[in-house]
Amino acid sequence: MSEIVVLFDGFSVMSGTDEMKANCSCTLIKGDHNIIVDTMTAWDSDRIVDALKKQNITPEQINYVVSTHGHSDHIGNNNLFLNAKHIVGFSISFKDIYYAHPFDKGEEYTINNSVKLIPTPGHTLSDVTVLVVSKDADIVAITGDLFEKYEDIENPNIWLEAGSDDPAEQFKNRCKVAKLADWIVPGHGQKFKVTEEMRELLGRQAGDKLSERNVK
Ligand SMILES: [Zn+2]
Repeated sequence: MSEIVVLFDGFSVMSGTDEMKANCSCTLIKGDHNIIVDTMTAWDSDRIVDALKKQNITPEQINYVVSTHGHSDHIGNNNLFLNAKHIVGFSISFKDIYYAHPFDKGEEYTINNSVKLIPTPGHTLSDVTVLVVSKDADIVAITGDLFEKYEDIENPNIWLEAGSDDPAEQFKNRCKVAKLADWIVPGHGQKFKVTEEMRELLGRQAGDKLSERNVK
């Protein structure tokens, strides 16, 4: 089992007609391995090092860096963690060695007994979600921008407008992750609990979307 510490809550707000202010949720997983998920923007390195220090962890002690996808606010400080294996979307590497893994065939990637990655394309075509078994035996999904924030369940326009490379896949994977998880740490909002009502709503949205696609 692992301990999950959300070091920073992500956010996103429109700050002008063509301007948005945003940063991603940054999460530390402590257990058999130290894992950091989504490393914010390149201007956040001091804040990340300080937050880790409060957890008695130095950047050198991080074993895995996971960027749920390759956008600039999710990869900004990966180079703080030079002892770590780096997983950016579907790409796994250490220094100049790249490890093949069939995420594109739907295959999950196991880090240890309580942490695995599953492919959840939609926001980009190579997004991953981190599933963690917490100390309370709950399943916590760290989803990156598969879920933008809690409010986007009622209002899918929030994540659609944030950008989706494959909306039909994203509808489907949102539904899948909600079924697997007790809690969600979204890409740009606070951690929230998944309810049965949410699962039903997401299921309807995914179903609606699929039938819409079948009609075409
Ligand atoms: Zn993002």
